[in-house]
Amino acid sequence: MKYIYAFAEDQTLTNTELGGKGANLAEMTRLGLPVPAGFTITTAACRRYLNADQPDGEFLEGELMKALQRLEAKTDRQFGNPDQPLLVSVRSGAPISMPGMMDTILNLGLNDQTVDGLARKTHNPWFAYDCYRRLIQMFGDVVYGIEKSVFEAELTALKREKQVENDTDLSLADLKQLIQRYQALYQSADNAQFPQSVTEQLNLAVEAVFKSWLNSRAKTYRRLHEIDATMGTAVNIQQMVFGNYQGKSGTGVAFTRNPATGEAGLFGEYLLNAQGEDVVAGIRTPDPISTLSDQLPAIYEQFKGLANQLELHYKDMQDMEFTIEDGQLYVLQTRNGKRTPQAAFKIAVDLVTEGLIDRQTAILRLKPAMIEGVLHPVFDPKALEEATMLVSGLPASPGAATGTIYFDAQQAQRANEAGESVILVRQETSPEDIDGMVVSQAIVTSRGGMTSHAAVVARGMGCCCVVGCSQLSVDAERKQANFNGQILKEGSTISVDGHTGRIYQGALKQQTGKQQTALNTILEWCDEIAPIDVWANAETPKEVATAFEFGAKGLGLVRTEHMFFGPERLFKMREMILADELSDRQVALTALKELQLADFKAIFELAQERPCTIRLLDPPLHEFLPHEEADQIALAKDLQISTDEIKRRIAAKVEVNPMLGHRGSRLAVTYPEIYQMQTLAIMESALAVQLKQGHAITPKIMLPLIGTSNEMDLLRQLLVDTIDEFLEEQGQEMDYHIGTMIEVPRACLVADQIAVSADFFSFGTNDLTQMAFGFSRDDIGHFIGAYEEQQIITKDPFQTIDQDGVGALMQIAIERGRRTKPELSIGVCGEVGGDPDSIAFCQSLGVDYVSCSPYRVPSARLAAGQVAVQDIQTVMQ
Ligand code: PEP
Ligand code: MG
Repeated sequence: MKYIYAFAEDQTLTNTELGGKGANLAEMTRLGLPVPAGFTITTAACRRYLNADQPDGEFLEGELMKALQRLEAKTDRQFGNPDQPLLVSVRSGAPISMPGMMDTILNLGLNDQTVDGLARKTHNPWFAYDCYRRLIQMFGDVVYGIEKSVFEAELTALKREKQVENDTDLSLADLKQLIQRYQALYQSADNAQFPQSVTEQLNLAVEAVFKSWLNSRAKTYRRLHEIDATMGTAVNIQQMVFGNYQGKSGTGVAFTRNPATGEAGLFGEYLLNAQGEDVVAGIRTPDPISTLSDQLPAIYEQFKGLANQLELHYKDMQDMEFTIEDGQLYVLQTRNGKRTPQAAFKIAVDLVTEGLIDRQTAILRLKPAMIEGVLHPVFDPKALEEATMLVSGLPASPGAATGTIYFDAQQAQRANEAGESVILVRQETSPEDIDGMVVSQAIVTSRGGMTSHAAVVARGMGCCCVVGCSQLSVDAERKQANFNGQILKEGSTISVDGHTGRIYQGALKQQTGKQQTALNTILEWCDEIAPIDVWANAETPKEVATAFEFGAKGLGLVRTEHMFFGPERLFKMREMILADELSDRQVALTALKELQLADFKAIFELAQERPCTIRLLDPPLHEFLPHEEADQIALAKDLQISTDEIKRRIAAKVEVNPMLGHRGSRLAVTYPEIYQMQTLAIMESALAVQLKQGHAITPKIMLPLIGTSNEMDLLRQLLVDTIDEFLEEQGQEMDYHIGTMIEVPRACLVADQIAVSADFFSFGTNDLTQMAFGFSRDDIGHFIGAYEEQQIITKDPFQTIDQDGVGALMQIAIERGRRTKPELSIGVCGEVGGDPDSIAFCQSLGVDYVSCSPYRVPSARLAAGQVAVQDIQTVMQ
């Protein structure tokens, strides 16, 4: 089997074999871009190596030497030859991008001889020895596991001895001394040696990169991003070009658009006289790319052209690494850039406007889960005005977060486990910090730029992040940090504004996300093609207004029992439930009706002509009974009965299985006056709003927990009689629909009978799941974990529809219901209605709309749009 391919050697190979980086290098080579020559070792080689009982890279060595010889011929240099030294980089490259998670070694091919060769060749000994000491450091870290910090400490110590501040202030003799000290570190670490044989260097480096597929940060990253752990990484071996060469040299990272906001235009940073590591690791704070036009105008223009060419080619925002070696520009890598959710929406819309992609492609590029990120919290503007700013930095990833500060990843993890909201504050982050970053509400660094590790990783996670706060200095050892003169200890509270890069003292009040134009544009495109509508479950005017702001086309579920949670209302509700006599109940109902009238009016006014589905009372009684003695006494007083009597009545109402008890429509079978009151309140308020606003309203009244057609027929009649009498009294006409929840398994099986008296169905998948599985909605928390762990079920069926069981019941209900009434309108208003994974299934069953909580409406609209695009594309194939 062939494991090694020169860039662009075989056009049929893809990311799966070459890894993302290798495939891109091949593609860029094909496009004629200035890419340093090299070759890729496939992921298959990594798999073979890692899957062996005793991993051994010997199977690859012959092919590797041949590939190297070809590279030598192409570059006119020789590996290990002091007169003509070829240096290479060895980089990992997984099929799916895992930035910074695996290992890289640069400057491979230097030893005690070739370093002098390079020095002679470049007439720059300092540069050559600087490369050499970097190689020894990286090699020690990657191959022998000698921590970077051990080398850093040695460098810092030497700088202190020599009384210099910057690395570049060290003399050549100092560098040579540093190299000796570095080599000694190998011996003290593991009695190992830095290999002088360049082929040994190469073989060891390749094996170390293979192994880095299994390091813990790579594993964490794969788990977080659900990346297949069996793929393995490719390894790219490429001729080194030097950004730390003399003269016009430098290195940088740039995006074709701003990855935080999506704004069009080249965005990035560079450092003159530096290697890529310096930019990515945030060790020096780089300059914005725009200033390259002053420093090296011709190169800047050339780079702009290449960036444009790459974006046009890949039809997406690119994240590129480049190096300038003595006035010559090289592109080292390009990939589709990671971006904030906010930027993702803007870029998708802009690419459509610019004609690079079509609307369908744009819709499919976005994920429903990203919307949460677009609706990121912001701080309340008033709170911001009054807040004390500590320091500011670069706004690397948007959001607003308050939490307690910790200066290392482990402490942050521990504090998070203890229930704290934590903010990780570091000089800079590295991939080792990933576990601490994942649990943090925000990440703050004193160094680094917009493409530093902290910035890139935080953006990917959608975590609020501010980097490069120059007025901040972190003393992790003493567990404190100096925020522009103010010392804050571990555990102090700060607030981080990822939109502006400002950091404030103490906790600040937040405001929920603002409207986003690009998001709205995408969602409008989705609405245009989606075969399934998105409605909302809402009852308070605030929720209803939010639902419509987020684009809900109607209200699929107004839970009237949720309108009785305030103290005064709860009291009246309890009076009603605990009244023994009809007359007492009527008194309570009259008071409740007044309240309901105002509630419904507000809803109809906000809804205008959109459909509103109001569900009649469905209170699990135990949620409403008074448990506190004081409440019981107050209630007894109002009903003019003794405390003993009220206790007796409460005891009489207590149920063994309240979820299967006297709730839903069963309540109206025994107390019809309750539903009569609600129906009147609905019709009266609808009529008032219709007359006031001058447009037609058709209230949709929904009965809960119907299980038999007799229940349905009886209650429909009750409602129709009540409504007819009311309309006749008023001398008015008004259309209305009376429908039912389908949430009892039996209702699914007799849906054809129920449909006779029902104008619409709405699946209550919460109760339907509860009763289909026999899993109590309120108690499943105790055992769902064990079910998921043992893979008895793969997903919580209360969140994602159980297609085989509950889904089959729904299918039966739809088929039987529409057998009776072909035009029957059918919705889903249980929790799964807002679950993107369930929406495609609902649509495939022929559901007309899903209804979910207001904040889930935008992601449901996107999911519905994606279902439509997938359908269109399947038909076209
Ligand atoms: C349901 O059962 O799915 C439903 C929407 O009703 P509730 O959650 O109020 O029981
Ligand atoms: Mg229900």
